[in-house]
Amino acid sequence: MRNLFLALFLFLSIQAVYAQTNIALPVVKSTIKGINIYGKPIDQQTRCQHWHSELDVIAIKFKCCEKYYPCFSCHEEEADHEPKVWPKSEFDSKAILCGVCGTELSITEYQSSNNTCPNCKAAFNPGCSKHYHLYFDTEGKKIE
Ligand SMILES: [Zn+2]
Ligand SMILES: [Zn+2]
Ligand SMILES: [Zn+2]
Repeated sequence: MRNLFLALFLFLSIQAVYAQTNIALPVVKSTIKGINIYGKPIDQQTRCQHWHSELDVIAIKFKCCEKYYPCFSCHEEEADHEPKVWPKSEFDSKAILCGVCGTELSITEYQSSNNTCPNCKAAFNPGCSKHYHLYFDTEGKKIE
């Protein structure tokens, strides 16, 4: 009998831990100035279940499907295909969306923006540069 209680106790504790680590923020339908945001957005400024600090206010249009996602994980979990990065020759394409004002920036404009929206001056997360290689062709170099 004691063993049964012990087993039950262990089972319940594991469940509790499991529930705590899986807090999923509610996904909302997100459209910014008529542009749909796919993946798992949680607000109307492109924050998502994966990245949702004060500064996480840009979405990236993926080369493969030409759809805006808040982040790489959003595309990975929701899209049914492998992601493609933007080649250097297309860095003048509008592929970054400011979630605060809805302005679309080209990759070149974004990379020279100093992490500030040229239109509304919203601050972007400078940490995003660590992930450039997931979205843009960086010739194998990881920009740290
Ligand atoms: Zn895609
Ligand atoms: Zn995400
Ligand atoms: Zn802006």
